[in-house]
Amino acid sequence: MLCVFIDAWNPEYLKYMPFIDSLRKKSRHGYLEVPLGYTGNIASFMTGVWPDKHGIFDLFVPDSHYRKKPKSKWFWGAIRYLQGKRIFFTPPKCPHMGFFKPSLDKSWAQRGCLNHKTIFDVLEENGKSFVLIDWPNYFKNRKGRIFFSKEWRKSYELAIKSKEDFVFVHFLDLELAHEIGIRGRRIKKIASIIDKAVEKLCKKHKNALLFSDHGMDDIQRNIDIWKELRKLDLKYGKDFIYIVGSTTVEFWFKNKEAERKVREFLEWLDYGRVVEQKKFHLKTNSLIFLADYKTCFYPNFFSDKKPKAMHGWNPKEQRTYYVLKNEKAKGKKNAKMVDFFPTIVDLMGLEFRGNVDGKSLV
Ligand SMILES: [Zn+2]
Repeated sequence: MLCVFIDAWNPEYLKYMPFIDSLRKKSRHGYLEVPLGYTGNIASFMTGVWPDKHGIFDLFVPDSHYRKKPKSKWFWGAIRYLQGKRIFFTPPKCPHMGFFKPSLDKSWAQRGCLNHKTIFDVLEENGKSFVLIDWPNYFKNRKGRIFFSKEWRKSYELAIKSKEDFVFVHFLDLELAHEIGIRGRRIKKIASIIDKAVEKLCKKHKNALLFSDHGMDDIQRNIDIWKELRKLDLKYGKDFIYIVGSTTVEFWFKNKEAERKVREFLEWLDYGRVVEQKKFHLKTNSLIFLADYKTCFYPNFFSDKKPKAMHGWNPKEQRTYYVLKNEKAKGKKNAKMVDFFPTIVDLMGLEFRGNVDGKSLV
């Protein structure tokens, strides 16, 4: 079975993707609702459960004490590699990030990457071979190596020659919309290139799932919430710590008074709301404030340049898409990220006794 993860896939791009567009008619397809968050989205794909069970919302969680982080991504990447950690990222420049550490250290294909059984664990138990192509990680079964080119071509080349029972490949090129917007000329071009690559890959597999971790939409309003937070009579590190992301601010409080002040402040804002965690299947030890659809927090801890397009809004409003090529089921059916795990188990005829939150799409 083939899984193609088309990062930042706005369903509008289907008009530039003739193969995938026509494949829909013969396949299961529809809008896809993902969990709210960043890294937790793919954790839900891998486990079939919502973030309240696997515990991942963002890539960063509070560290036990303040630690200065290396500035160079290459230097830090090399250290993490030597430690056997296969999650890499550009260290955010904001000095406050010294209060945080990554919530994950292992790649999805490594044993014990989450506190939950992954699809790779189930494949292994069933004696199936697998490949994960997820830049910069390449895993053939449990054996990993690194590759450097982030461009679609390298991942495609690795995927097209894979003969394993389960092939997972991640294309990141459409993330460019962050810089140029969803109607940028190069977006059209990239979408059509990915469409052709997917066509060739699909020819080799009877079952193929095309999906994404989130959509992408142009930003309509930027808000400097960070500046407002600094005006509060509270001290970072002593009263609270927080992360200003592009669409969320996540807070951890050190005392009740700080929490009261922040909640009161947030209540008056007209561009977002405090997330009801249960409604979003989340269970963090933090308070999460989510921006309204198409409102972006800028400046934030992560973006150097002002982005044009973003993801990470309410997933019921910002949806993405999936297409499932298979011989069992056709027609439109909207899906949730947690549905893919049981769907893969079904289509590949895997033995699995465990609980998931999703339902098979076939
Ligand atoms: Zn993404």
